[in-house]
Amino acid sequence: MTVSTVVPAERREALAERFGGVLTGPEDAGYDDLRRAHNGMIDKRPALLASCRGAADVAHAVRFAKEEGLEIAVRGGGHSIAGRSLVEGGLVIDLSLMRGVDVDARARSARVQGGALWSDVNRETHAHGLAVTGGAVSSTGVGGFTLGGGLGWLLGACGLACDNLREAEVVLATGEIVRASEQEHTDLFWALRGGGGNFGVVTSFVFELHPIAEVVGGLIAHPLEAAGELLRFYREFTADARDELEVFGGLVHAPDGSGLPLAAVVLCHAGAPEQAEADVAPLLEWGSPLMSEVGPMPYPVMNTLLDADYPRGALNYWKSTFVRGIDDELIDTLVDRFHSCPTPSGAILFEHFHGAVTRIDLQATAVPHRSTSYNLLIPTVWQDPATTEACIHWTRETYDAAGPYRADGRWLNYYADDDGGARALEAAYGPNGPRLAEVKRRYDPDNVFHLNHNILPAAAG
Ligand code: FAD
Repeated sequence: MTVSTVVPAERREALAERFGGVLTGPEDAGYDDLRRAHNGMIDKRPALLASCRGAADVAHAVRFAKEEGLEIAVRGGGHSIAGRSLVEGGLVIDLSLMRGVDVDARARSARVQGGALWSDVNRETHAHGLAVTGGAVSSTGVGGFTLGGGLGWLLGACGLACDNLREAEVVLATGEIVRASEQEHTDLFWALRGGGGNFGVVTSFVFELHPIAEVVGGLIAHPLEAAGELLRFYREFTADARDELEVFGGLVHAPDGSGLPLAAVVLCHAGAPEQAEADVAPLLEWGSPLMSEVGPMPYPVMNTLLDADYPRGALNYWKSTFVRGIDDELIDTLVDRFHSCPTPSGAILFEHFHGAVTRIDLQATAVPHRSTSYNLLIPTVWQDPATTEACIHWTRETYDAAGPYRADGRWLNYYADDDGGARALEAAYGPNGPRLAEVKRRYDPDNVFHLNHNILPAAAG
C-alpha cells in the first residue's frame, strides 16, 4: 500500500481561504487523474496539488509551500520526460486552469497564460492569420517548452519560441509578482529564455507573432532499405534549405499501427505557396516512396501531424545530442541500430538548426545552441511495461553508438531523469552557465525552484 503525505486539514484550510483555484490532495476524488504526467513512467504522489487561476494564487501557493516546508514542483503542460513537474510528498503548482490566450492582432503579439498548450496558442493566433514557433507536437505546454528554448517547425523562419518572447510575468521565490522584459528585470528576462524553470513561476508570456497562416507540410516515407541513401540525400538537401523550410529526417515506424519500420522526412514550409512548391519538389521527386502526403494546410494542422505518435500516458525515455554533422558512418550506425528497436513506436530523428535560430548571438539569450547543425533525437515511446527495460537499454545504447559523432551541446528540453549532473548542465547551458548561476543567486538564492534541470546559485562573493 502506498502511504501519501497529506497536508493537515487546518493548514490546507488556511491556504483555501486566500486561494481562488482548486486544492486537491490524496484524500480527494480526482487526485489520481490530476497527478498523472504525459510520461506514463512517472508515478509521484504529491501532498497537494494547487491548481491556480492566476498570479495571486501562484504567489499564495509559493508562500504556503515555504511556510510548510514543502518542496515545490511547477507544472505547465506536464510534458517533462523527466517528470520534473511533479513531486513526491510536496506541493505542485498546477497551471492547467491557466490556459488563456489573448491576441493583439494589430501589435502582432499574444499574451499567453503559463499553463497553455501549443494547441491553445495556435487556435487563437490562427484566427488572426498569425503564428509563432511552438512544439512539433500540439499537446506540449508553452511553459516548460519556452523556458527551455523551444524548437519547432518554424525555427528556421522565426527562431526558437524563446527568441520571440517579449515579456513574462513571473512569481518569484519570495511570492513577489514581477514583469521581465528588455526594460524591466533584464537579467531575469535573459535567463528565462533558455534557463528552464529555475527562476520563478511564469504566469504569462508575451510572444511576438508572425503572419503565417498556411504552410506546405507533411510526411514522405520510404522503405527502410532506402534509409542510408535517404539520409545522405537529407544531409545534402538541408544544407541549402531556405529558412522557411524545416525538415526532420530519420527512421520511424508506420503511423498505421502496423509497426513497419520506415525511413522518412517530415517537413513544414512556411513561405509563399509557389516558393514552397519549388523548394519541396526535390524531396517529393526523390526515390520511390511508400507514402507521400504533402500539401498545403493550416499551420495548426501541421502542428498536430505527429500528435498520435505521442499519446498521453504512454511510456517514454528520450535521449538527444547535437552532432558534428551527419557522417556516412553515423547514418550506417543508426540504421543498423534501428533494426533492433524493441518498440513499434521508436524513432531516430535529425532536427535541422538553421536560419533565424542561428542569427541570434550566442549570449543574447540563455540558449547557447546557435550554429547551423543537427540535433539527433531518440524519442523512445512504448506501451507495454514488460518492454521497459529493453526500451531504455536500446535508447541508451543507440545514444552511446552516436558517441563519436556528438558535438558538445545538448537540448535541455529533451533531458530524461538520468541526464542530471554538472556535465549535462554544461552541455545544455554552455558558456552561459556562469551568468545563469548569477541570476539564480539574485532571484532564487535558496533554490526554492529546484525541480527542473537545476542551476545552483553562484556562491556569494
Ligand atoms: P512540464 O512538465 O509542465 O514542465 C517542464 C519543466 O518546466 C518543469 O521543470 C516545470 O517546473 C517547468 N515549467 C513548466 N511551466 C512553467 C512555468 N509556467 N513557469 C515556470 N516553470 C515552468 N521540446 C522542444 O523544444 N521541441 C519539441 O518539438 C518538443 N516536442 C515534444 C513532444 C513531446 C510529445 C514531448 C513529451 C516533449 C516535447 N518537447 C519538445 C520537450 C518539451 O519542450 C519539454 O518537456 C518541456 O519542458 C515541456 O513543457 P511543459 O510545460 O509541457 O512541461
